[in-house]
Amino acid sequence: MNNYEAVIGLEVHTHLKTSSKAFCSCSTEFASPPNTNICPVCTGQPGVLPVLNGRAVELIARSAFALGCRINKKSIFARKHYFYPDLPKNFQISQYELPVAEDGFLEIKSDEKAPPKKIRIKRIHLEEDTGKLLHAVGSRELDHTLVDYNRAGIPLMEIVTEPDIASPEEAWLYLNALKSVLEYCEVSDCNMEEGKFRCDANVSIRPVGQTALGVKTELKNMNTTKGVRDALGYEIKRQTEVLSSGGLIFQETRLWDTAAQETRLMRAKEEANDYRYFPEPDLPPLELSEEFLTMVAKQVAELPSAKRGRFVSEYGLSDYDAGILTAQKTLADYFEAAARALADKKPETYKLLANWVINELLGRFNARDVIPKGGNFSQYDDLIQSASLAEIVNLISSNAISGKAAKIVFEEIAGGSRGKTVADIVKEKNLVQITDEGAIKKYCQDAITENPVAVGEYRSGKERALGALVGAAMKKSSGRANPSAVNAILKDLLK
Ligand SMILES: [Zn+2]
Repeated sequence: MNNYEAVIGLEVHTHLKTSSKAFCSCSTEFASPPNTNICPVCTGQPGVLPVLNGRAVELIARSAFALGCRINKKSIFARKHYFYPDLPKNFQISQYELPVAEDGFLEIKSDEKAPPKKIRIKRIHLEEDTGKLLHAVGSRELDHTLVDYNRAGIPLMEIVTEPDIASPEEAWLYLNALKSVLEYCEVSDCNMEEGKFRCDANVSIRPVGQTALGVKTELKNMNTTKGVRDALGYEIKRQTEVLSSGGLIFQETRLWDTAAQETRLMRAKEEANDYRYFPEPDLPPLELSEEFLTMVAKQVAELPSAKRGRFVSEYGLSDYDAGILTAQKTLADYFEAAARALADKKPETYKLLANWVINELLGRFNARDVIPKGGNFSQYDDLIQSASLAEIVNLISSNAISGKAAKIVFEEIAGGSRGKTVADIVKEKNLVQITDEGAIKKYCQDAITENPVAVGEYRSGKERALGALVGAAMKKSSGRANPSAVNAILKDLLK
């Protein structure tokens, strides 16, 4: 059963962040009332002509630079024909023979120690989205189908990989890395729930050592990155069972059923020429000038992998922590805003801040994915402002409050006391750490008097017995004494 290996390629369709559609000036606003963002062009009325949206071209070129692609200075639009009610023109304007960009790559990293793996990107092209068919309203199934053309004509970027992905886990890493890059470049908000980032997967298996590819199936209808991972896991298992028992895999399209956690046959695969592609007669070839490309290249900001490296070198963070903090640009921005507000700029303080951001702040958001859903800067700032988190870290590192007290402050602010400052809460809850030596000495002396057994054990060489005495002294201070001071003073008194 285990001597097969998987070969996976992914096709991602993502909405470009433009305010108008690809070939007309209709709005791309999500969730508008049905059929309000439409015009004769995007509904395919006779006698109209498409006009290319320059912003969409800019965003796709920016993505191509970020993904290390070769950009074709001349590319061609093509008509892709099929007949379905979601396509008012009966063809989709897409690109076929000459796409905007080819031959790029994206690196994925499965863990801190593993070297990055390059996933090659075969092509990136520009096309238009289709309309939407509604078979139900809310939970009510309809006995007819509703058509909404608001989405028809929204610019869509298709990114196709080579079959370089070897496991569901790698596919998941690739999708998260891709979302991260596109979010960094501000070309798409990659919202999968709103259908603005969709992924189809091609998967086949073959005996280990064989170079020829097996027959592949195409998987559709995965609405989350986890869904893609689960669907691939299921499909690889299914194909392995079929081949192991002497059966055959057929080239077909299968739908992922989230509820049943299985893939189901949708249709036998049509060949590419079924679409009768031909060059779009109403649009000239897309030609990109040197000036335009130079301008776009400058727009590509620091990408996730570069930022991750900088977080390691500039803040002294581990590669693992840097990876989490930079997976999402908005989280990286939040961390850097807090880092600027730290009183002392030492690696230990940055590490402490990173721990607070990763464990406490991210812990508050869903843990379903590496990237919290719909993440944005204000989402984190709404929970606790970066300056307030920095203040908490400042108080811990100056020994003004203990880590335990800091958690109380954090919970108080994140739990809704947003009008209060960190200082207010520390004062109100009497959380200031006791550092006065005289006071701590008194707690320690009392602890020694009341625990003769532990004292005896410690003096006879049992180092661990000190813990009981530290605990007793801390309890006397209601947890407010500085633990390291308690430790030192106790050791001193017991000499
Ligand atoms: Zn329109």
